[in-house]
Amino acid sequence: MPSLQDPLVVITDLDGSLLDHHTYSWQPAEHWLEMLKANHIPLVFCSSKTAAEIEQLQISMGLSGSPFIAENGAVLRFHPDAQPDNIMEQRYGAIRALLERLREEKGFKFFGFGDVDEKVIGEWTGLSAQDAVLAQRREASEAFIWRDSDERMAEFAACLAAADLAITQGGRFYHIMSKNSSKGAAVQRLMELYRQRDGRQWLSLGLGDGPNDIPMLNAVDYAVIIRGYSKTPVDVSAQQHYVYRTSAFGPEGWSEGMEHFITSA
Ligand SMILES: [Mg+2]
Repeated sequence: MPSLQDPLVVITDLDGSLLDHHTYSWQPAEHWLEMLKANHIPLVFCSSKTAAEIEQLQISMGLSGSPFIAENGAVLRFHPDAQPDNIMEQRYGAIRALLERLREEKGFKFFGFGDVDEKVIGEWTGLSAQDAVLAQRREASEAFIWRDSDERMAEFAACLAAADLAITQGGRFYHIMSKNSSKGAAVQRLMELYRQRDGRQWLSLGLGDGPNDIPMLNAVDYAVIIRGYSKTPVDVSAQQHYVYRTSAFGPEGWSEGMEHFITSA
């Protein structure tokens, strides 16, 4: 088991994990956040949220400048001063263009973040209009609500796959992104960057509650599956030997998982 003295990176999902699914509060995990800070253990957010939303949250949690993974792995920011490049914005534009074409040609019924205004996103998510604007600032993936049948979903996924795009399911939304990106691929890259930086054998502990967290939980050394509301079971690969399922939801479960794996003495 890792201790607070080890070179350890804690990688966490946000909604339903570090943040309460309903209230977005992280207070029940505050004690652990302080412990990580005091021991200089990096806390890396790994979320379907946008970079703009994550940076805002980092400011409110006193974590500005920490590396993060946004848009379900489509965006990885290791250096705080790295600006989103144009390629990213083009990627979002290209995804939107394809979605609009598919809807027109095949009549799929869905609503993406690019189809609605911040008020509607506020209604879907409970976010304030201000935060909803940040959620719309997408770089490399689209979030959407599906209003069609399961059969049509399979057809939709096949059309996207033909364009090298894949669908992943988050807590509230589906997400479309490049088929080569996932939270898992981004975590592997992140850990390479840590190891390259100082040559130490960094360990990773990951926490998540949804099916979109599975690739991340498979990529870390220690996996915490936080009890969640997803209908789809969250099962990690049989190769993952260090797995703990919490009995509590959200940030309470988050603390429970940290308690289980980290020797604080
Ligand atoms: Mg989640």
